[in-house]
Amino acid sequence: MNITVTSTGSMLDDNIKFFFQKQAEAMEEQKDEVEQRIEELEVGQNLVAVVLSDKCGGCGICTDVCPTGAIEVGEQAFVNSEACSGCAACVSECPNEAIILVQKKNSK
Ligand code: SF4
Ligand code: SF4
Repeated sequence: MNITVTSTGSMLDDNIKFFFQKQAEAMEEQKDEVEQRIEELEVGQNLVAVVLSDKCGGCGICTDVCPTGAIEVGEQAFVNSEACSGCAACVSECPNEAIILVQKKNSK
């Protein structure tokens, strides 16, 4: 009699273990997705800077703060979208609010 109870208990333990293992795996996957999304938002992977020509005065501040060298300034600033990481440094430093971040065309 004791043997049967032990065996059933063991199977139950195995089922519970399996259930929690699957739960843990599912949560791990969700965690990875959330972390990836946070990373995308932090580095702005799907965003690119665009200069508003009616506001840009060509002061050059943005090019000084851009970490990827994506901005050239002549009479006005121009952003190389391939080089832009979407970090938003230029957006926050522009005195004329002449740069905005927009969704990259090919992103979801
Ligand atoms: S900081 Fe602003 S105003 Fe100055 S060049 Fe860059 S976009 Fe134009
Ligand atoms: S968003 Fe960042 S990488 Fe893109 S142009 Fe502005 S400062 Fe440079």
